Amino acid sequence: MSTRKPATIAVRTGIESDTQHHAVVPPIYLSTNYGFPAFGDVPQYDYTRSGNPNRGLLEQTLYELESGQGAVITNCGTSALNLWATAFLGPDDLIIAPHDCYGGSYRLFNTRAQKGDFKVLFVDQSDPQALAEALEKKPKLVLIETPSNPLVRVVDIEQVCQQAHAVDALVAVDNTFLTPVYQKPLELGADFVIHSTTKFINGHSDVIGGVIVTKTEQHADDLSWWGNCIGATGTPFDSYMTLRGLRTLSARMRVHEESATQILDYLTKHPSVGTIFHPSLPEHPGHQIALKQQSGFGSMLSFEFAGSFEQLKTFVGTLKLFSLAESLGGVESLICHPASMTHRAMGEIALAEAGVSQQLLRLSVGLEDVQDLISDLEQAFDVAVRVAVEEK
Ligand SMILES: *Cc1c(COP(=O)(O)O)cnc(C)c1O
Repeated sequence: MSTRKPATIAVRTGIESDTQHHAVVPPIYLSTNYGFPAFGDVPQYDYTRSGNPNRGLLEQTLYELESGQGAVITNCGTSALNLWATAFLGPDDLIIAPHDCYGGSYRLFNTRAQKGDFKVLFVDQSDPQALAEALEKKPKLVLIETPSNPLVRVVDIEQVCQQAHAVDALVAVDNTFLTPVYQKPLELGADFVIHSTTKFINGHSDVIGGVIVTKTEQHADDLSWWGNCIGATGTPFDSYMTLRGLRTLSARMRVHEESATQILDYLTKHPSVGTIFHPSLPEHPGHQIALKQQSGFGSMLSFEFAGSFEQLKTFVGTLKLFSLAESLGGVESLICHPASMTHRAMGEIALAEAGVSQQLLRLSVGLEDVQDLISDLEQAFDVAVRVAVEEK
């Protein structure tokens, strides 16, 4: 079993497991409760908050893909992060998170720390000095997010895990951007992998979900207990849908990345494009680490629009195949202006410090025909350039 490749694991999971009607694809169980076969005889599933066959199958598939020993499916990626913090942190405990982590993760840890639930430090983990100083404070948990959002900065998972383990901290990697197809944090030393399954794992922009995968069975048991205790677990329908999306993950990731490579090639040569951010580029900080720890570069990329802000707005508004929307990792291509969308809550100063300029645009390259995507970018750049001429 363990020698199966990711595509085989995802496609074959649960197939032909229905013993009642021999349905090839496992059916959905919406029932909230399950009968006890006999008095005092507790069944595998008794009540859906604590467990359900569809959720169980999705958990098993995800921990097999991540080479873990267990998993807990949650109702969103944010609740996976919250469950992790709740299970391991008390009021005197410290968590170290990346200074450029997902905005919702920042808000979650910051708000709960302000309430006194635990302590948090946001640190630039690519700065060894800053990381070492933070680790001297003996954190209980360390969160890594690599590549980061929106500048796709890369952090050395193996190195951070070694440093964190030396002070007995447990490490989780938010692996949302690359998925187990391109990055396996548990094999690099992490204790947990967290995903917003809302993104590439489900891949169709129609389910909100999350997961924590654990390296040990004990941690999975602890987190399942807490998941049931605080009611953070995912629903049967969402689990069914997510597994349906997950079955095509390997094929989707391959095309996402092939198309991103061609789009990068196009953008690199375009005069209206400034700095491009993608781990595949030799000049990108973290390129060497990406080569070491990733088996693919992924398809999330950002670039600075080299023109006026009016031109940028025209460019975005003229695109037909890139929807102006938040989120990422779906079959449909998206464009996002982080400063006014996903990262607007940070405020101008924090944005500047994080290196997120007003000219920055982020692309989630979807599965449309890549030539159509490039033609769309081309026509939008042309219209934007004409605006410049009229401005003069
Ligand atoms: C979206 C996202 C989250 C939060 O997940 P939700 O499912 O929206 O709650 C966490 N981390 C990263 C990297 C994300 O992109």
